[in-house]
Amino acid sequence: MSVVTELEEQRVLALSAIEAAEDLSALDGVRVAYLGKKGSLTGVLRGLGSLSADERPAAGKAANEVRVAIEAALEARHAVLAASALEARVASEAVDVTLPGRSRPVGSRHLINRLTSEICEIFLGLGYRIAEGPEVELDYYNFTALNTPADHPARSLADTFYVRDLSGDEADVAGESDVLLRTQTSPVQIRTMEKNEPPIYILSPGRVYRRDIADPSHLPQFTQVEGLVVDEGITFADLKGTLEHFAREVFGPDRKTRFRPHFFPFTEPSAEVDVSCGICGGEGCRFCKGTGWIEILGCGMVDPNVFGYVGIDPERYTGFAFGMGVERIACLKYNVPDLRMLVDGDMRFLRQF
Ligand SMILES: [Zn+2]
Repeated sequence: MSVVTELEEQRVLALSAIEAAEDLSALDGVRVAYLGKKGSLTGVLRGLGSLSADERPAAGKAANEVRVAIEAALEARHAVLAASALEARVASEAVDVTLPGRSRPVGSRHLINRLTSEICEIFLGLGYRIAEGPEVELDYYNFTALNTPADHPARSLADTFYVRDLSGDEADVAGESDVLLRTQTSPVQIRTMEKNEPPIYILSPGRVYRRDIADPSHLPQFTQVEGLVVDEGITFADLKGTLEHFAREVFGPDRKTRFRPHFFPFTEPSAEVDVSCGICGGEGCRFCKGTGWIEILGCGMVDPNVFGYVGIDPERYTGFAFGMGVERIACLKYNVPDLRMLVDGDMRFLRQF
């Protein structure tokens, strides 16, 4: 094979390899294979020196043309591949600033949970401590030790959830069980007085259960906060001052309070506390049923009979207790017309607080 033919063959092979190179590194491989130190075209060029003087000029000219053609093809292909590589990179790294961001919603405490804490903070600031007790409670603590007579209506099946033990042979008959879902947090008072000597200053927040159908002013499960103070020389004036302070803290300094005589089995005397209506300012409106006042809690001086159950000397100690429904306080504080809205879980409503 003549050198010129060999060069021509190299040119055809090189140009087709260049055209076939799909990326820059493949193209560089082609360049090395033909023009590198050990490249095939380089090998042919080295052989030119051994040609006769007749052959050399034509072969040298042909060799130069082939080298120039291959270099030009490499350069052209390099430009094409570099442009498409850049394009691919730009496409892969592009950020679409019009896409909506990934939202990570921030959670928050439920209104009732937060308000319960706020109420607790008010009393913690007065030196009370938090006491807790079981939600599944004995009849003794929920009723008997709280001076509730055996025939009191609150004990009836219509008002209280009793827990039946179905594991034994003689399953408790409904209404004869002595285990129930507590209807108030007051049993915590009894449990605390059993275990602690006065002075006692406690607040017991927690869930309670009553057999009510949910309606605007009743829930079968709600949150109660109760307070109990037992110490020497505690009078109704202490109770009044404490609750007036509480009402100012929760409802603001502009709301007035009043105490109305009432009856509870475990306190004597007992009272209900009203605050002036936040809607009409005491003038009378639909919200306060025209009275200008709204009831917020029940309270009273601890009945000496209750002290008898827990072994506290009623001659030496006196005390007071109070209890309130947190859901009710929330409705009054934020003018929510229906208790059920607090537990429906509608975020559009709950996010307002
Ligand atoms: Zn009113």
